[in-house]
Amino acid sequence: MTENVIIIGGGPAGLAAAIYNARADLKPFVLAGSPPGGQLTLTSEVENYPGFEAIMGPELIDRMRKHALKFGTRIVDKNVLKVDFSKRPFKVYTTDETYEAKSVIITTGAKALWLGLESETRLRGKGISACATCDGFFFRNKVVGVVGGGDTAMEEASTLTKFASKVIVIHRRNEFRASKIMQDRVLNNPKIEVIWNTAVEEVLGESRVEGVRLKNSDGKTSELKLDGLFIAIGHKPDTEVFKDQIELDKKGYIVVKQSMTSVPGVFAGGDCVDHIYKQAATAVGMGVAAALDTERWLEVNS
Ligand SMILES: Cc1cc2nc3c(=O)[nH]c(=O)nc-3n(C[C@H](O)[C@H](O)[C@H](O)COP(=O)(O)OP(=O)(O)OC[C@H]3O[C@@H](n4cnc5c(N)ncnc54)[C@H](O)[C@@H]3O)c2cc1C
Repeated sequence: MTENVIIIGGGPAGLAAAIYNARADLKPFVLAGSPPGGQLTLTSEVENYPGFEAIMGPELIDRMRKHALKFGTRIVDKNVLKVDFSKRPFKVYTTDETYEAKSVIITTGAKALWLGLESETRLRGKGISACATCDGFFFRNKVVGVVGGGDTAMEEASTLTKFASKVIVIHRRNEFRASKIMQDRVLNNPKIEVIWNTAVEEVLGESRVEGVRLKNSDGKTSELKLDGLFIAIGHKPDTEVFKDQIELDKKGYIVVKQSMTSVPGVFAGGDCVDHIYKQAATAVGMGVAAALDTERWLEVNS
């Protein structure tokens, strides 16, 4: 059986695309990944998704999934291991099946990079975040740390100054990697302090972040009191599977024109394309655009 459209990824972008394709009677088939749900499953309260003043991330994604199922989407929680976009129908492989489709929408998202500390995992959503736009609001008049030295860290630190009373950037080297203009913005901001040559060794606190244990390049350790910690060491798009099949940029993000990739009939949207906004609402918008572009493309290429 050749599917009209296979959607790879079951986060906000993929499920939004599925809702549109299902309502257009394309009977979309979603390979949602394992575990499914994407980045929203890693967070607690979401307060910036229109229509919901506050909703838990996993509940929001659960509602999107039920919405897609209601209109006839089929969803299987499997990872795609390989694709063949060299000829049509396109082929999509999981561990035990090969699927064929007239068109494909890729919405495999991205992963925020973490330090890899046990304490960091335990306190995620309890004072640890990887998104100042999402969570900065919860730290009004608090003292927060930002880990990193690239453009992401500069951006996060600047955003946090709108809420926090003080922002402390913790960087393991003696200079930032960020662009000059971003560095200047941080270094000239009176609310921001920088601790150089220092790494976070442990996050302190039982049920909420209370501080961090730091280790500087001389091996000296110290403790710093904090109300929150933002890990800003970058994102990695989940696009490894597609690297020999479609055009990716230097950082691995999928290159698109509107939503079409370098292979006609293969579309993409959400955080696997977007290295700028990275929000649930923008991912949904890009998923919808990909679904509409796919529908139009299928009308003339089916
Ligand atoms: C801790 C945290 C808090 C956040 N808080 C907010 C917030 O408050 N508000 C907000 O708007 N945004 C927030 N975000 C950002 C938001 O979650 C993302 O922008 C959004 O989830 C991106 O949606 P997406 O569908 O593009 O990708 P993702 O959510 O990353 O979903 C990708 C999907 O693809 C699947 N997948 C990956 N590889 C494969 C494969 N090979 N085969 C099959 N499936 C695959 C995954 O399993 C997943 O289902 C937060 C992010 C994080 C990490």
